[in-house]
Amino acid sequence: MPIHQITRFGLVNAYLVEEDDGLTLIDTALPRSEKAILAAAERLGRPIVRIVLTHAHQDHIGALDALHAALPEAEVLISARDARLLAKDMTLDPGEEKGKLRGGYAGAETKPTRTIAPGERVGSLEVVAAPGHTPGQLAFLDTRDRTLYCADAYATLGGVATTAKRYWRFPLPASATWHHPTALETAKALRELGPARLAPGHGKVVEEPGAAMVKAIARGSA
Ligand SMILES: [Zn+2]
Repeated sequence: MPIHQITRFGLVNAYLVEEDDGLTLIDTALPRSEKAILAAAERLGRPIVRIVLTHAHQDHIGALDALHAALPEAEVLISARDARLLAKDMTLDPGEEKGKLRGGYAGAETKPTRTIAPGERVGSLEVVAAPGHTPGQLAFLDTRDRTLYCADAYATLGGVATTAKRYWRFPLPASATWHHPTALETAKALRELGPARLAPGHGKVVEEPGAAMVKAIARGSA
């Protein structure tokens, strides 16, 4: 499958995934990204029929309200856990006190049309648990070509890195991470999926990322 990446300010990614019924948008990038995203969909000549959010951080949900206004028919999907953060409910679940909610949670007016859970399918995408960066982060595995939309479980700016430990070349995602040991477990679990391609929230798409992921896990554990 061709990959359709929209990058804002060289830092923040959203993706368009082609399906039989139209396009799935993965994340909405920063506020005021709606024009760039809608233009990318227009170039593909297909409508955005659903918006899936990997997690509720500001740089992934920023253009949600504007896109929802432009595309009122499109479904809006997020995990039940991060749906609460999207609604600016910052209460923790039992056991979550082990971490601290870090990073920007500006919230959105838009309510999800439904929540999604690991194991479900969204079109061709398999929903995969990816907690750690936020408590309810999700990744998405395209079952057609094993592209893994890994959200902020990995970043590839300055090289493939987990968000389990601050990486000096690009420390931001790790600094915004709720619980580093959980993020490390997620990084390992995503590696076990054997992705053919890694499409992160921050940084370029990496083909055949297996060896780089193993290295990043080792660095994240050290
Ligand atoms: Zn994030």
